[in-house]
Amino acid sequence: MSTFLGLPAGGSAGSSPRPSTAPRGVGHLRGSDPFPVAARRALADSQLRRNLGKATATIRAKRAAVVAELPDWEQLREAGRAIKAETMRHLDRYLEQLEAQVEARGGTVHWARDATEANAIVTGLVRAAGATEAVKVKSIATDEIGLNDALAAAGIAAHETDLAELIVQLGHDRPSHILVPAIHRNRAEIREIFLREMGDVDPALTDSPAALAEAARLHLRRKFLSATVGISGANFAIAETGTLCVVESEGNGRMCLTLPQTLITVMGIEKVIPSWRDLGVFLQLLPRSSTGERMNPYTSMWTGVTPGDGPQNVHLVLLDNGRTAALADATGRQALYCIRCSACLNVCPVYERTGGHAYGSVYPGPIGAVLSPQLTGIEDNASLPYASSLCGACYDACPVKIDIPSLLVHLRARHVDEARRARRLPSAEAVTMAAASWVMADPGRYAAAQRAAKSGRALSRGGRIRALPPPLSAWTRARDLPAPPAMTFREWWRSEHRDRP
Ligand code: SF4
Repeated sequence: MSTFLGLPAGGSAGSSPRPSTAPRGVGHLRGSDPFPVAARRALADSQLRRNLGKATATIRAKRAAVVAELPDWEQLREAGRAIKAETMRHLDRYLEQLEAQVEARGGTVHWARDATEANAIVTGLVRAAGATEAVKVKSIATDEIGLNDALAAAGIAAHETDLAELIVQLGHDRPSHILVPAIHRNRAEIREIFLREMGDVDPALTDSPAALAEAARLHLRRKFLSATVGISGANFAIAETGTLCVVESEGNGRMCLTLPQTLITVMGIEKVIPSWRDLGVFLQLLPRSSTGERMNPYTSMWTGVTPGDGPQNVHLVLLDNGRTAALADATGRQALYCIRCSACLNVCPVYERTGGHAYGSVYPGPIGAVLSPQLTGIEDNASLPYASSLCGACYDACPVKIDIPSLLVHLRARHVDEARRARRLPSAEAVTMAAASWVMADPGRYAAAQRAAKSGRALSRGGRIRALPPPLSAWTRARDLPAPPAMTFREWWRSEHRDRP
């Protein structure tokens, strides 16, 4: 696409969008190892595996129960997918409509090509409000652009108010799950973090969920009452009226969205939906898929500014940060359908064993494996499309029917093609495949190779080969091989048919 969604070039606040050519923001998290290295480390952490196994099994069971209640679940999934596909086809039109509606109702729309621009816009708005602190609703888009760090560098303290995000922030940690960012922490660990970091917490604090929640509530209440700026993401934005929507479970979001005088929402451009009618579909799909609830506990919506009621300065920052590049890929754009429910994480056997940190990306699990490489460029997250067994559980669970396994294969192919173009010499994998192709193209060569492979039986134990010498050791480092049979198929066939005419 030559321009940002085909729209004319323009400026920032309230102006038309510009081409997405500037450097993108946070990609593979700084200092993170590639997935195979980080996963190996995570697998050695038995406490992490216990925490993850328990949490994902609980959420899976809850989801399965509430999904089974709906006879039209499959039709709802189809509807969700169709709405998203239609929106992506005409994303330019819906974004322009959203912008016009938000501004007609007293809000201001800003367009950010990348993380740097988005952070500069938000920092400028907080400064303009004369604030040095802000309260935040849980938002992965702001994690994606590294907003908290950018604000801190400008002398502005951003306080996370979602309980799990608060645990992550106080623990100087990183989220490891889209919906349950502190899924890798158990109650005892959370109690320790609160005692160490909150300062004003009762030293007799226990690790009962009620006591921990009360400690967080008291800590946050002071922040809510003093903050003059709130920062949020958005789950949906309705183009036909300019209404923004945040769904959450704790009520902290509603405090952030209603108490401060200035409200700044950072939203990925793919979150727009055409109409209220469409919202009805997603408000059925999302809570069942994410928390296993029939209905979301707190669904907040606001449309521009209401004089004398709630925030009087309402800003919407529309974030590209690699999304138009994903949109330009006819197959890859499916990743933009995602409604961040996290169902694919909870069913993924890889995620369940490694946790989110191993992905080195703000979007972990199967959706991270297909979204992050597209947002950052494949070279920045090249190991992620391979972080899957392609079992297909994510596709079955996805409420908008994103075909994640096919996307993974598509991105692997793109990675191989790009690597081939960038390299003059063929890779070891390409040489191996060319050799295999040469061997298999001739029956004589193939039979000779089979006979040679039988010598590998000497390396087997219990019918499996667990370690091959270099360079084949790269294969057996992560998996074993069945030992070659004592007899090839052809030898077996000849012995079976020896006496027949
Ligand atoms: S890809 Fe599908 S299942 Fe995974 S988080 Fe997104 S919407 Fe949910």
